[in-house]
Amino acid sequence: MKHIVVLTGAGISAESGLKTFRDSDGLWEGYDIEEVATPQAWRRNPALVQEFYNMRRKSVLEAKPNLAHSALAELEGKYKVTVITQNIDDLHERAGSTNVLHLHGIITRSQSSLNPNLTYPIDGWELKMGEKCELGSQLRAHVVWFGEAVPMIEDAALVCAKADLFILVGSSLAVYPAAGLVNYVPWKVPKYIVDPNIPYLPSDFIKIEEKATIGVPKLISELLNE
Ligand code: NAD
Repeated sequence: MKHIVVLTGAGISAESGLKTFRDSDGLWEGYDIEEVATPQAWRRNPALVQEFYNMRRKSVLEAKPNLAHSALAELEGKYKVTVITQNIDDLHERAGSTNVLHLHGIITRSQSSLNPNLTYPIDGWELKMGEKCELGSQLRAHVVWFGEAVPMIEDAALVCAKADLFILVGSSLAVYPAAGLVNYVPWKVPKYIVDPNIPYLPSDFIKIEEKATIGVPKLISELLNE
């Protein structure tokens, strides 16, 4: 069975109502990332960081998967599919994808602030200050902050190296090491990108300059009819 590897970024969830990161001058929902998405921010003002991710979690829980997420899930009828996502939302899973690797964590889980391997489900949208892990440290969102290691990156690189076909959707390729994954896909493997504003890429990508809900279902229906 052919193995299709899909790398997704914030753009695939934009039409579900979740803003991309670089929509507004490098701000994320009006916040400078240095204030809310770094270990330094957590040390300076943990309550603000917690509140920021509580708000993001609330939006994620209210959002619904769109036609691009569900088209990718349909691919599993004919192909082996691995979705590698930079997104911290759970919209791929809710659309039915069964093999999703979250490079930057998932906001519906919490994480010990002492040991990143200790993660827990969160009941509802709010993670409160004072809620602790089994080691007695404050729980934070299970997301990878800027400046933190990306533990899944090696697994993701190995998956990319074994792809028979590669699809990139909605990523500005500005956040490393995730952006470097395209370089692990062997040169002869067919590669597609769906993005209304295509970033700089190796030249062998087939460019579909459309929004995800238009471009992804079109590409997937071609692949399903092959
Ligand atoms: P980015 O915001 O840097 O880039 C978004 C890309 O999506 C751009 O290339 C843009 O042209 C494209 N795009 C915008 N609307 C689109 C649409 N309708 N269809 C297809 N593409 C569209 O996103 P990134 O490269 O994923 O990096 C941002 C980082 O911030 C990620 O690492 C992620 O963890 C985090 N983030 C996550 C979410 C989420 O989980 N939904 C949202 C915002 C940011």
